[in-house]
Amino acid sequence: MKKIVSLSFLFIIGCSEIQDEMIVNIYSQRHYDVDQLQYDNFEKETGIKVNVLKSNADELLQRMKNEGESSPADLFITVDVGKLWQATDMGLLQKYEDNSLTDGITESLLDKNGYWVPITYRSRIIVYSNERVQENELTTYEGLADSKWKGRILVRSSSNSYNQALLSSLVANLGEEDTQSWTNALVSNFARDPKGNDRDQVKAIAAGQGDIAIVNSYYIGLLLSSENEEEINAGKAISVFFPNQAEGERGSHINVSGIALAKNSPNKSNALKLIKYLTSDDAQKTYVNNTFEYSVKPNIEPNQIVKGWGSFKIDPLDLNMLGQKRKTAVSIFDTAGWK
Ligand code: FE
Repeated sequence: MKKIVSLSFLFIIGCSEIQDEMIVNIYSQRHYDVDQLQYDNFEKETGIKVNVLKSNADELLQRMKNEGESSPADLFITVDVGKLWQATDMGLLQKYEDNSLTDGITESLLDKNGYWVPITYRSRIIVYSNERVQENELTTYEGLADSKWKGRILVRSSSNSYNQALLSSLVANLGEEDTQSWTNALVSNFARDPKGNDRDQVKAIAAGQGDIAIVNSYYIGLLLSSENEEEINAGKAISVFFPNQAEGERGSHINVSGIALAKNSPNKSNALKLIKYLTSDDAQKTYVNNTFEYSVKPNIEPNQIVKGWGSFKIDPLDLNMLGQKRKTAVSIFDTAGWK
């Protein structure tokens, strides 16, 4: 993957010995248009310039590790808590310490170890064809192993961190052996070899290439609010289903997009200000109404489209387990032949 490096960022790297400038440098795995809007608003409010290096999480982690003490990174942002856990595990982060930073954020979404702060959350849900699937045919993630779904399930590649996080949650909840059996069965139900991103799976349902897909919730909001007719039609061809909701079930899997202070942050006070800003009510509203993610603050309602799907029960698993179980999850994917 090509790295997107802005000219100003290269300049900052060259000047990293200067401290406490009116800048903050982010290494970010997020890939949504709303992010730049948030940084522009922050800059307007504080005068602090935000420099962003966008790439995939593994490349950013490796880069921070290689840069060591001279790393210009102040903040690390991911779309997967597993990568925040990994950064913690690699010794690349420092605790945020100021507990007022997480005031008003839902307790169960917080890092018990105090390294990362959640900025949004999302559920990895099932969507189904309005034409070929009845809602009452769906139950749980586990239910997707049933042979009635043979040749009908669409999902992206196992190298994707959203899938790795979902499988980590199954390892934590069901144990390694049952998760391996489930994964083997799921792969045998695939409509095609995994390809494309989450939106592409929904488009494939609309094109009749499969009947159900596993995708992140907000992509449905993005499709329905798109200016592209193919995307709108894809969004309209499916319905949203939150798995594992029945009484006694654990709830749907969620993941957070989160932010953390880099170990060697050269502009720490600016970085803390940006964390505070991104979790402010204003910025939270900007997230929910532009990316259709869920706010980490219970007082901020989801966007109208998302509200229409109803509320759902969340798997209460400690989110750090989505990192701790990652290695096992990846080896299960390999054994099952999930490309
Ligand atoms: Fe995404």
